[in-house]
Amino acid sequence: MLENQTLDLLGDALRKLEHQFASLPECAAAESAGMDAVIADVAERLGENYPYFHPLYAGQMLKPPHPVARAAYALATWINPNNHALDGGRASTAMERDAVAQIAAMFGWQEHLGHLTGGGTMANLEALWVAGQLQPGKKIVASSQSHYTHERISKVLHLPFAKVSTDARGRMDMAALEQMLAGGEIGCVVATMGTTATGSVDPLPEILALRERYGFRVHIDAAYGGYFTLAGNLAPETRSAFDRIVDADSLVIDPHKHGLQPYGCGCVLFREPAVGRFYKHDSPATYFSSKELHLGEISLECSRPGASAVALWATMRLLPLERGGEFAHGLEACRRAALAFHTRLSQDNRFLTPFAPQLDIVVWALKNGSAERVFQEAARRNLHLALARLPGEWFGSGEEQLLCLRSVLMKPEHEQWINCIWEILDQAANA
Ligand SMILES: *Cc1c(COP(=O)(O)O)cnc(C)c1O
Repeated sequence: MLENQTLDLLGDALRKLEHQFASLPECAAAESAGMDAVIADVAERLGENYPYFHPLYAGQMLKPPHPVARAAYALATWINPNNHALDGGRASTAMERDAVAQIAAMFGWQEHLGHLTGGGTMANLEALWVAGQLQPGKKIVASSQSHYTHERISKVLHLPFAKVSTDARGRMDMAALEQMLAGGEIGCVVATMGTTATGSVDPLPEILALRERYGFRVHIDAAYGGYFTLAGNLAPETRSAFDRIVDADSLVIDPHKHGLQPYGCGCVLFREPAVGRFYKHDSPATYFSSKELHLGEISLECSRPGASAVALWATMRLLPLERGGEFAHGLEACRRAALAFHTRLSQDNRFLTPFAPQLDIVVWALKNGSAERVFQEAARRNLHLALARLPGEWFGSGEEQLLCLRSVLMKPEHEQWINCIWEILDQAANA
């Protein structure tokens, strides 16, 4: 079940890589005795995970990278470039620029400033930091379904933060936002394009219309949902929200969520390259060998894995970010899987569904019985779901929060497994 084509590819690629250093005098390669036993232990320990690679893992936002990303990442570790500075990663810095420009172009951004980060949290931190530099002391607002990181980051940055309530579909409520804007002092509105819990997409066209009147920065948190801009099967309302990302001021997307990358790969983009001035510093040590811009000069993180850039570049070379392309088809399959699953849930009177998925995340509650028990009964039958606490009013419940089940159907294979997932859920719910 675990692919091993990568192992053959790596042998050949390693020899090719080494050949390029053939003019160097021989030196001994580092090897250690006892590695085989340790690695055998590691293989055993890793088996203690949930099977994220399998379609019956249908819980949280987890899946292995594409094999091409895995192979490229592993190959790069033999060199271990550091994309802090050109000295540390000449080739991988060029690959990072190229990969980031392709992501920017996916959203219609020609000019941009951007780079990879350790993940969505660091990427959002940089975006909110820039927002705070431009509008010191002004408030950051995000919906009550936005990622909790925004509130925490705002604290780190000593910026005031407030939550905007959501509508019955988990999207930022526009009347509530306008009321807050009328109170003044809001510097940045965070629009989430695909909330972490339910994949809800904030109404960006309306937020941008309010920007005309009130003047604030719009930051897009598309850590989870960003790549869905390539999908050809979004609902019209969702499509029109994604189509306006081009007009935002900054953007975060996580290649390690829907971009087929290993963890450690987020991306932040600014539409206005001039914000690079905020990153200016005066290092005595790092930038000697080139007059070109170093990515380390426009990133808060210093050392960064060149291997992440290499893996992302390789993945996009194999699967370009094109509408109608193979990568886009994968996202469309995830969405079809979610719609099919939602339809079955909504037609079954054991379950309550609050709304149809905008992306590929499905949530549901039980009319009777405990979500936690179904979660456990499903796991005993090899189906791994997730639990989520969601507003009770979405389900017509008087409780403030309801413990629900949640399924992130982020593997294209999920589409073929919906019958099987349904059968197990059916048994688990009846158990
Ligand atoms: C995952 C996620 C984050 C946090 O990103 P990490 O990569 O986990 O640091 C932020 N916002 C949204 C919407 C997310 O889904």
